[in-house]
Amino acid sequence: MIMKGKKGLIVGVANNRSIAYGIAKACKNQGAELILTYQNDKLKPRVEKVAKELDVKNIYPLDVSKPEELNALKEAIERDYGKIDFLVHSVAFAPREALDGKFIDTSKDAFNIAMEISVYSLIDLVRAIEPVMNDGGSVLTLTYLGSQRYIPHYNVMGVAKAALEASVRYLAVDLGERKIRINALSAGPIKTLAASGIGDFSEILKYNEKNSPLRKNVSIEEVGNSAMYLLSDLSSGVTGEVHFVDAGYNIMGMPLYEK
Ligand code: NAD
Repeated sequence: MIMKGKKGLIVGVANNRSIAYGIAKACKNQGAELILTYQNDKLKPRVEKVAKELDVKNIYPLDVSKPEELNALKEAIERDYGKIDFLVHSVAFAPREALDGKFIDTSKDAFNIAMEISVYSLIDLVRAIEPVMNDGGSVLTLTYLGSQRYIPHYNVMGVAKAALEASVRYLAVDLGERKIRINALSAGPIKTLAASGIGDFSEILKYNEKNSPLRKNVSIEEVGNSAMYLLSDLSSGVTGEVHFVDAGYNIMGMPLYEK
């Protein structure tokens, strides 16, 4: 019961295939009390279902592009929970046309949307929620290897994830004054709603499975367990880091080959 007595806000559950769901479940299994948000009314019933399963008392609306919803969320947490111990940001978006074809064709609009929803939202969320976090708390965001290396079709999202990882380093210093930690978890490819927008995603899955040291893809349960480590006091000396949970794929210099 590593998370017993801890309360946390998890942003980014769309359904029970979401990485945020894997994280929520892992934290719940270890005794945490959870607060969830839903992006819009279309996704609300799915999040309600998850909330019921995980014994979550309240879910709140949050579209990260709507400052009024973020303010209302902070007020609601203060009112209904007092202070919380951890925060998960598992949100990303880029227009579909920017996640196919050539990076050079990225439009200014697509670039701005990807940066606003996938990067600025972390800064905004942390600024809003920090006042209702206990000292010694932990923040986590989700990233992907496409921030550091070329991955086919990942395009503008790779640039956004690079900015996200840099934001984690700068936020680590600001939050460190209150001993609050922030890290990024770089997950291997997983079939989710967001991933279905990336061109040829099934090829990426196949390639990673074949060429990672563990010869497999990771599950949302495995990502959830790594996330729980970073959200718990087990990682009390760790901040500003990018931590990988990708079956080791990121260490490979060349694809595996059979003799
Ligand atoms: P998902 O579709 O289940 O989750 C994405 C979430 O982002 C959804 O809950 C969606 O509602 C939310 N979102 C998008 N726009 C939003 C907005 N304007 N306001 C509020 N919420 C918004 O997919 P996922 O794969 O679980 O993605 C979660 C995170 O994990 C993302 O940051 C993604 O880049 C990252 N990630 C995914 C993979 C993968 O292969 N699936 C790998 C590494 C990292």
